[in-house]
Amino acid sequence: MISVAIDGPAGAGKSTLSRKTAENLGFIYVDTGALYRTVGLKFSRMGADTELKCDIEGILADTTVDIRFVDCEQRVFLDGEDVSEAIRTPSASMMASAVSAKPPVRAFLLEMQRKLARENNVVMDGRDIGTVVLPNATVKIYLTASAEDRAKRRYDELVQKGTDVTFKEVYDDMVQRDYNDMHREIAPLKQADDAILADTSGYEFEDSLALLLKIIKENTNI
Ligand code: C5P
Repeated sequence: MISVAIDGPAGAGKSTLSRKTAENLGFIYVDTGALYRTVGLKFSRMGADTELKCDIEGILADTTVDIRFVDCEQRVFLDGEDVSEAIRTPSASMMASAVSAKPPVRAFLLEMQRKLARENNVVMDGRDIGTVVLPNATVKIYLTASAEDRAKRRYDELVQKGTDVTFKEVYDDMVQRDYNDMHREIAPLKQADDAILADTSGYEFEDSLALLLKIIKENTNI
């Protein structure tokens, strides 16, 4: 099986690029952020807030998270319910971020991610795929762009959706999240020693996609 691990900071275009890359190669795309969001949703439904002053292990013991692929599209299920849309709210993002810093949650999701890569050709994106989840991935890519570029992309997206934000707010938020992700104790975001750096500052989407495909083709026999 071939596995492509794509890690990097928020706003680098990981999910859109990973999805397109997988489509191009005929691989499945595994969005690991969705798994943390699903666990976060469970904790919200149990009445927890981001401080998570609750019985984390107890709740996890009573939780099932499944991934299914419908027309190659990932859907996530929480205790049998399709929550693929419900996990995309700002509050689910906050809870995902909170639960993702808890070791029992990371352990709970680890084997599921590894199993997917054992059984399928995958493009898997996240923060710790090349460093922790798939240390033997066929190709590891660390996808990034300057904070200005990433904030600009996120800002344009939000403005298009009609959200009332300033560029400075988006930029400051991005810098803060980079700091949090890179400095947390467990599975911090960092480039794996054997990951190839893909810096897409100043690139259009199609150029970034071409760069990823070139790296993958140069480092596999496909
Ligand atoms: O990628 P996405 O924004 O959907 O991820 C949601 C949250 O899950 C992030 O805040 C990130 O901290 C966490 N995450 C993680 N490890 C991963 C993927 C996501 O800690 N492999």
